[in-house]
Amino acid sequence: MNTYLVGGAIRDEMLGLKGADKDWVVVGSTPEAMISLGYTPVGKDFPVFLHPKSGQEYALARTERKSGKGYTGFVVHAAPDVTLEEDLQRRDLTINAMARADDGTLIDPYGGARDLDARLLRHVSPAFSEDPLRILRVARFAARFHAQGFEVAAETMTLMRDMSQSGELQALTPERIWQEMHKTLQHDDCPVFFEVLRECGALKEIMPELDRLFGIPQPPQWHPEVDTGVHTLMVLKQACLLTQETDVRFAALVHDLGKGETPAEMWPSHRGHETLGLKPIKALCQRLKVPRSASELACLTSEFHTHVHRALSLKPSTLLKTLEKLDAFRRPERFQQFLLACKADSRGRTGFEQIPYLQANHFQAALDASKGIAVPE
Ligand code: ATP
Repeated sequence: MNTYLVGGAIRDEMLGLKGADKDWVVVGSTPEAMISLGYTPVGKDFPVFLHPKSGQEYALARTERKSGKGYTGFVVHAAPDVTLEEDLQRRDLTINAMARADDGTLIDPYGGARDLDARLLRHVSPAFSEDPLRILRVARFAARFHAQGFEVAAETMTLMRDMSQSGELQALTPERIWQEMHKTLQHDDCPVFFEVLRECGALKEIMPELDRLFGIPQPPQWHPEVDTGVHTLMVLKQACLLTQETDVRFAALVHDLGKGETPAEMWPSHRGHETLGLKPIKALCQRLKVPRSASELACLTSEFHTHVHRALSLKPSTLLKTLEKLDAFRRPERFQQFLLACKADSRGRTGFEQIPYLQANHFQAALDASKGIAVPE
């Protein structure tokens, strides 16, 4: 029996990053032998055990054979005859498919160290295309390691494009999509995740509501230089500079989903036309089973962000109604999150900072202050 440190821990150590969980692969053992050595079995789908002292994960070396649709459609073979190289071959990216032996030797059969130096996210083998979750993982790694200069290798992007077209992404469960997206929203370069998904055609499969924004022009008085999709990613970037809260970042991402496509539907709140309203946000949140705190803030931001931007020119009564609907007094923390999402959208262009009562922590202060606003009813 031999154990090897594998995956993210090796990658992060070689990048000079700290903190990755340590995952181990055990070659030449059986579940019975692991249990007799004091390891605790924890794997539901594969034979994984916890070390009796360190609590770290030890997985028996395994191979996988595709047997059905989606990322769960695999038959796993874990036996003492499975080699380390075979186990590494089923992994997604070369930089995640390196191992280190007890004596410190690096085992790198698929060129992970070379790709790490070249800052390339490259798939290990054509079997990559058997699991559509890997598209999201690559996009997440592209966001996570953007600051280190990583990019998706051209041939991996081509494969991801073919996979997106195959319809396999539809087999992903909403929970896994949200899980990848939520993990990604924790990274400051998370807009890259959506850029990569768009480039390979996966965005329109899993988030068509967001994909359709690319190509919809922005109104000349606001952000004429970009379309609404690009604007959205700029707002997300801005949100990342303002806060680490993923709920706010998600609200920034989806704040414009209700924008219509035709000129009559576009920017209608100013002119009294119909918008798509909250329908696209609600559809997306329900489909991906987005937790309530995030979906609620997203809906509030979408519905009311234009009120904040136009606050100086709104009738006080309208503004007060908005604050009431936002429940600003009873839920000051969420109100602050709302303001942050609005601020990300405004990029300092609106009168937001000039309206101190909008930043006040409670509604009574807002009410009192609003009485002094010199705006005609
Ligand atoms: P993180 O720091 O985010 O945990 P990680 O690389 O350790 O990064 P994990 O999701 O913990 O990521 O996965 C551990 C290892 O298992 C990966 O490095 C990769 O080798 C492999 N792996 C995980 N999920 C997949 C997948 N869907 N397809 C192929 N290999 C995978």
